Amino acid sequence: MALLEIKELVKNYGETTALNGINLSVEKGEVVVILGPSGCGKSTLLRCINGLEEIKSGQLILENNGVLGKDISWVNARQHIGMVFQSYELFAHMSVIDNILLGPLKVQKRKREEVEKQADELLKRVGLFERKNAYPRELSGGQKQRIAIVRSLCMNPDIMLFDEVTAALDPEMVREVLDVILGLAKDGMTMLIVTHEMSFARQVADRIVFMDAGRIVEQESPEQFFTNP
Ligand code: ADP
Ligand code: ADP
Repeated sequence: MALLEIKELVKNYGETTALNGINLSVEKGEVVVILGPSGCGKSTLLRCINGLEEIKSGQLILENNGVLGKDISWVNARQHIGMVFQSYELFAHMSVIDNILLGPLKVQKRKREEVEKQADELLKRVGLFERKNAYPRELSGGQKQRIAIVRSLCMNPDIMLFDEVTAALDPEMVREVLDVILGLAKDGMTMLIVTHEMSFARQVADRIVFMDAGRIVEQESPEQFFTNP
């Protein structure tokens, strides 16, 4: 069975049908990049997977961790899904390490010592260990985004969702964030990525999913996708 299975997912915003029958399965260790024009539903799809949106119909199944359908809660499964947004979503009044520890300590009730050790290792890996006690306002956009990724990883998610995470960054910071994601891919992290960075998409993807008007219209390997006219 796939790690994540989406069946006939429909999502409306009032009269607007944002997702119109999405079927998608993602295998463990697979990296899927979602492409498509603005407004086609990419962001909505990630938000539905992360339980941030109420769906109209369909099912989302996360292996071993629950089923989300209409009127079915995704509370348990959500703990196993990491999501990183364009806008970082760090708490301004909390230091880097307190931002990172919040979920593991408060939601997962883990021991501070154990989580802090994991956080330190991840911070070293993204080159930001020395900023551990800094506040978000003292960091560049690229640094904030790497911290947001570390915070998400510290929850030990089964799958990571990335929604245009470099879109708000100055060009010189884009690479440092994309390199972190490439490192995760190399380690076998399961990921769903929405991005406009085409050469990165080609590099990182096992599969490219192309959406239009709330539907998946094509699924191909990056080789097929980038060589076909
Ligand atoms: P994309 O991420 O591909 O740009 P979105 O998922 O943001 O597309 O949007 C899909 C459609 O749903 C668009 O028509 C958008 O205007 C609409 N939409 C998204 N979020 C909302 C919302 N909170 N309220 C109303 N309509 C929304
Ligand atoms: P993206 O393309 O990355 O989804 P948008 O600018 O479309 O970014 O959306 C930014 C925010 O505005 C999202 O939270 C989305 O849900 C909301 N949004 C998008 N379209 C609409 C809409 N037509 N009405 C209300 N909210 C919307």
